[in-house]
Amino acid sequence: MALIVQKYGGTSVGTTERIRNVAKRVAKFRAMGHDLVIVVSAMSGETNRLIGLTKEITGSPAPREMDVVISTGEQVTIGLLSMALEAEGIPARSYTGGQVRILTDSTHTKARILAIDEENMRRDLNLGRVVVVAGFQGMDEHGNITTLGRGGSDTTAVALAAALRADECQIYTDVDGVYTTDPRIVPEARKLDRITFEEMLEMASLGSKVLQIRSVEFAGKYKVKLRVLSSFEEVGQSEGTLITVEEDRNMEQPIISGIAFNRDEAKLTVLGVPDRPGIAYQILGPIADANIDVDMIIQNVGRDGTTDFSFTVNRSEFEKAKAVLEGVKSHINAREIVGDNKICKVSAVGVGMRSHPGVASQMFRTLAEEGINIQMISTSEIKISVVVDEKYLELAVRILHRTFGLDQNA
Ligand code: ADP
Ligand code: ASP
Ligand code: MG
Repeated sequence: MALIVQKYGGTSVGTTERIRNVAKRVAKFRAMGHDLVIVVSAMSGETNRLIGLTKEITGSPAPREMDVVISTGEQVTIGLLSMALEAEGIPARSYTGGQVRILTDSTHTKARILAIDEENMRRDLNLGRVVVVAGFQGMDEHGNITTLGRGGSDTTAVALAAALRADECQIYTDVDGVYTTDPRIVPEARKLDRITFEEMLEMASLGSKVLQIRSVEFAGKYKVKLRVLSSFEEVGQSEGTLITVEEDRNMEQPIISGIAFNRDEAKLTVLGVPDRPGIAYQILGPIADANIDVDMIIQNVGRDGTTDFSFTVNRSEFEKAKAVLEGVKSHINAREIVGDNKICKVSAVGVGMRSHPGVASQMFRTLAEEGINIQMISTSEIKISVVVDEKYLELAVRILHRTFGLDQNA
């Protein structure tokens, strides 16, 4: 008997039929004697629909009201799932994030969890109830509803598992684990039995949205046993993917564990700025002040006293960033501001890279052979990322997947 936190994503609760199916699965785990806390997302498409409604009203909603609207999807599914559980003869109780008391900071639409009060949940578990909690949301110290950023239900689940010191946190989704790359793009992708936290963190932050980055950070920090599985398989049919601290010492560590990609990228270049101390700050300072996150940065070698400076931002912030640069252009004496929002980032990730030189050159050669021009490069100890034209995204992912021996039956 164990205490398990399970999270069911949007597709897994996408219809009332599927919600009933989740209730039946939970019933099976109960029959095995486990205590269960269930976190659910909104029905698939619902959060996007709610965001769409806000756009019909205004292009710049107050973040507080945005959270009031987009948090509602999860309130529907907790109620429906609790009803479905009761219909299966299982006592259940639903809680919104605020009711559990998931305390967050006040950064609306991307709030961070500060503390969780487990008392309500413990009491219900002791009374033999299944506890059903709304993912993606919390409440700040003033009682305002907050949300945790897209994909945030993963983080709710891991945070609850940490607070309750659960034996395991199981993330149920529409794939049966973490793959070497998104199986929707590369059908030859292989399911990984295990992946290290470090690698999963890189994969998630480089665009693999199977787990929200913060959920992986949280699980690593609080040593939560985290597993990704499919809600469409029979209970117990597969072990999914375990996110582990340990590198697998029994097996030869592959050099590259996965290929991640991100379409939501855009590049801005400031051409012909004077090459003098302080220029990077004068360009990026106003960008930071506008709350825009910057990813890759490149400054060219100066020539004739001037240089070019490029950086990438999330595509949704492209126009905003461009406007900021136009605003400072004359002040910094730049010749021109140019931008490209049709770029993407493709990355190879693997802890094995540490002990194997030559991965970068293999990656660059492979892309060159396909005629794919690399616009920017960034590396860390366990990843190499390149920015390329968006039209090459699928090709680049597929050939790198093959080159690094990740294809099934390779
Ligand atoms: P949920 O609604 O259950 O949270 P998500 O859509 O957020 O599901 O995450 C699951 C999806 O993540 C899969 O359908 C898959 O297309 C995508 N994905 C991207 N990269 C990977 C990967 N490396 N392994 C598995 N799935 C991936
Ligand atoms: N419903 C939210 C979203 O679509 C949170 C989640 O599903 O994890 O982003
Ligand atoms: Mg998700």
